[in-house]
Order: sequence, then C-alpha cells, then structure tokens
Amino acid sequence: MSSRRIWKQYLETLQSAGVTFLPKVHLPEPVPVREKRPRSRSAPAARRSDHAGSSRLLPPEKLQPEKIQPVPMLDATADILNESPETTEQKSEALCRLAEVVAGCRRCSALADTRNQTVFGVGHADAQIMFIGEAPGADEDRLGEPFVGRAGQLLNRIIEACGLKREELYICNILRCRPPGNRNPLPQEAANCREFLDAQIRIVQPEYIVCWGTVAARNLLNEKRPIGRLRGSFHDYEGIPVLCTYHPSYLLRNPSAKKDVWQDMKILMKKLGLPLPE
Ligand code: SF4
Repeated sequence: MSSRRIWKQYLETLQSAGVTFLPKVHLPEPVPVREKRPRSRSAPAARRSDHAGSSRLLPPEKLQPEKIQPVPMLDATADILNESPETTEQKSEALCRLAEVVAGCRRCSALADTRNQTVFGVGHADAQIMFIGEAPGADEDRLGEPFVGRAGQLLNRIIEACGLKREELYICNILRCRPPGNRNPLPQEAANCREFLDAQIRIVQPEYIVCWGTVAARNLLNEKRPIGRLRGSFHDYEGIPVLCTYHPSYLLRNPSAKKDVWQDMKILMKKLGLPLPE
C-alpha cells in the first residue's frame, strides 16, 4: 500500500474519532486494469505484413504448413532402377518403360482427371546436361512435350546462343501432369511425382542439371530460398552440380532478367569448356 493511502486511512480514523480541521489528501484516480485475454499461439502468424506496412488476415489453411504424405516407390519404378542401365540403349529402354508407368499414374487425381496426357520428358537418354522446369502448360499438355510454348521457343534460343543443341539435352519437369489454370504445383503433387524425376536423373546420369525457375530449384534442392538467391552459382544434387536460373516464362514477363540468365549460362558454358561470346 502507498504511504499516501496509509496517511489517508490515518486521517479517516481521526475524523471518525471526532477530530475536525484535518488536511485533505488527494489520491490519484485508480488506473483501470484490463483483463488479460489468453493469446493464441497462432495469433502472430495469422497476420502477414504487406509491402505497404498494413496487415491482412490469412485464411486458416495458410496457418499450418501442409503435411506431405510419404509416397512409397512403385515396384515398377524400382524394377527399372534395379537394372542399373548404363549404355545409351539401356537408358533409352529404361526411360521408355518409366514413361509407360507415368502414363498410367493417377497419384494426383485432380491432375490426372484434367490432363490430356502425361508429359514425361524428351531428349538424349545419355545427355550431359539435364534441364528441369516446373510443370506442363497448355501447349505441353496438348503436345506431350516439355517447353514447347512461347517459353519453350525462348528456351530454344537460349540453348542455341550457348552453342548447344536441344536434342543433345534431356528436358523434363517437376510435374508430369498439367496443373489446372497453370497454377503452381502443390507440395504433395511435387512429392507424388518426385519418384519419377529422381528415376529420370538416375537413368540419364547427367553431368550437370539446370533448374529453370523457383519451383524447379526449390523442389529439386529442397530449398526455401528464392531463385534470385539460388542463381549465379552451382548447388549439389547427389553429387551432380546444379545451376539455377530464371524460368523462360518469367523472362517473357521481365525481359530485363535476360542478362542474369545469360550470366548463369556463361557459368555453365565455362564449366563445359564452350567458347564464351563477348
Ligand atoms: S503429376 Fe506425376 S505423380 Fe501426379 S498424377 Fe501426374 S505423373 Fe502421377
């Protein structure tokens, strides 16, 4: 209790005993105590600041990271890999058999219901370089080949500028079925299709991998960093050097990023011993 309150009580005692002409004591107004409400653990995560400094509520499904169900390898894939294909012929045959397995895959039912066909991958079965993109778009879904739309045409020009040939490369995606509306692959879809990507890499055994875009880079490398921080140097996937750069679709929307991709391609060309244009 404060000394001022003790002094007031003393004066009140004197007053009740009949003493008059007592000095007045002014106590400060009591400060109302706000009842503390229990804070939910998820409350801070429920808001995300935007660039304007305000905040907006996130829907509840965004508060918890999606749980990814484990995906056991199919016996058919395991059988193909157990044969350890080594020659170009053996690798071609293994890829054909794996493509048949993929064609019948319905792990992602929403994608399997809406796809025209699976887009397995194309190129040289014994390629020195493997390109990995995100997922088939409308053109790829129609034609059954990765990178054939406008983005694919730009990729072809990049390949030529590097002094490479498309048919010498092996090209595939994180997903083998088109996500409706060209949305990004869901984490579970990427996990479902990972068996086939890993198997293609194990069969082709490329010396270098190039990941085109954030989705490819993050999924292959199990990374959280954005592509802007992953590009520009080599990373590692099971002993294979991996270069990450912007997706050609991004370049179509942001032509100023072409110089960054060209810098990345020069890093690859230097490794390959290809002549660097000025
Ligand atoms: S995306 Fe891959 S895992 Fe999903 S249904 Fe297509 S082939 Fe199967």
